[in-house]
Amino acid sequence: MENGVIQDDLRIRSSLPTLQWLIERGARVTVCGHIGRPKGQVMPGLSMEPVRRHLQSLLPGVEVLENVRFEPGEKTNDPEWVARLIDGQDLFVNDAFSVCHRSEASVVGPPAHLPSAAGRLVENEVGTLAALLDDPKRPFIGIVGGAKVKDKLGVIHALLDKVDTLLIGGGMAYTFLAAMGRSIGESLLQEDQIAACAELLDSDHRIVLPVDILAAAPDGRELQVVGRDIPNGWEGLDIGPQTRVAFADEIKGAQTVLWNGPMGRFEDPRFADGTRAVATAMAETTAYTVIGGGDSASAIAQFGLADRVDHLSTGGGASLEFIEKGDLPGLAALRQAYEREQR
Ligand code: ADP
Ligand code: MG
Repeated sequence: MENGVIQDDLRIRSSLPTLQWLIERGARVTVCGHIGRPKGQVMPGLSMEPVRRHLQSLLPGVEVLENVRFEPGEKTNDPEWVARLIDGQDLFVNDAFSVCHRSEASVVGPPAHLPSAAGRLVENEVGTLAALLDDPKRPFIGIVGGAKVKDKLGVIHALLDKVDTLLIGGGMAYTFLAAMGRSIGESLLQEDQIAACAELLDSDHRIVLPVDILAAAPDGRELQVVGRDIPNGWEGLDIGPQTRVAFADEIKGAQTVLWNGPMGRFEDPRFADGTRAVATAMAETTAYTVIGGGDSASAIAQFGLADRVDHLSTGGGASLEFIEKGDLPGLAALRQAYEREQR
């Protein structure tokens, strides 16, 4: 959402099957959700009103509560806020996969009190990711990019145990290149993770790093493709042409591909080619393809290829945490509710 206008209604449309199913069976449905990070304060620009209007145009009769993150008790899972949230409700359905990794009131509160269930979207997301990690068709290729090595190191660890090959691009790659003793100029670096990256490179896992890089001069205008060493003052902002071909070839040879994180600063068209090459290879392969949400999902949507992958997760953080830990607080809360109702 931007200025009260819905830019992309993927998540709203993704919730329709569950809502429709409930309404057809006579349920009176109240939807709760959030927009942005108002941090416990009422911010009119983050009102759910546009969502209410859009959802009611698709499904008349559905009630939509105001942004749950306007409530200070949402973040802290405050019992008093949970009591207000579930007041008058008989059942709870969680269909918000993208917040299942958060122990917030609207995620873990209601299932502590009401008979609860997972919605179709949550079921589909969890089923897809669990099957992918349990029994993938091989070769299974993982592709990780984006900006934050530290956040994704746990995921990289978990993935290395599952995949046959891990391709690393984007801002992630430079900490690994630094760990190989390469010079990376002004590129993104997470210094405190160099040792951890070196350890991974020393392991038996097959990790593929870029062989060439599109770098920008200190003035930010002049661009040049360089090898694995980046000149002083220059910044690596995309994978180079040889790497694009190499990564696309790896994808072509795979039976299963899981991708998270863009290959470069794709928001700037000058640095979008690497991400586009991966997105195109994902779209063209017959392998089973999954995108782990977040900026990678926006990227593939921007290239108009979103409907050519098998599964596009609605939850970036949630899908990564599920890959890393195999469970999420929101799912555990649903299981506890189920066990309670069985007693
Ligand atoms: P995702 O949301 O898919 O998990 P991240 O949030 O980790 O991905 O990273 C996305 C961001 O990483 C994008 O905004 C992109 O511009 C940035 N990025 C990717 N590669 C680079 C790079 N080489 N240098 C700087 N930023 C990069
Ligand atoms: Mg992101």
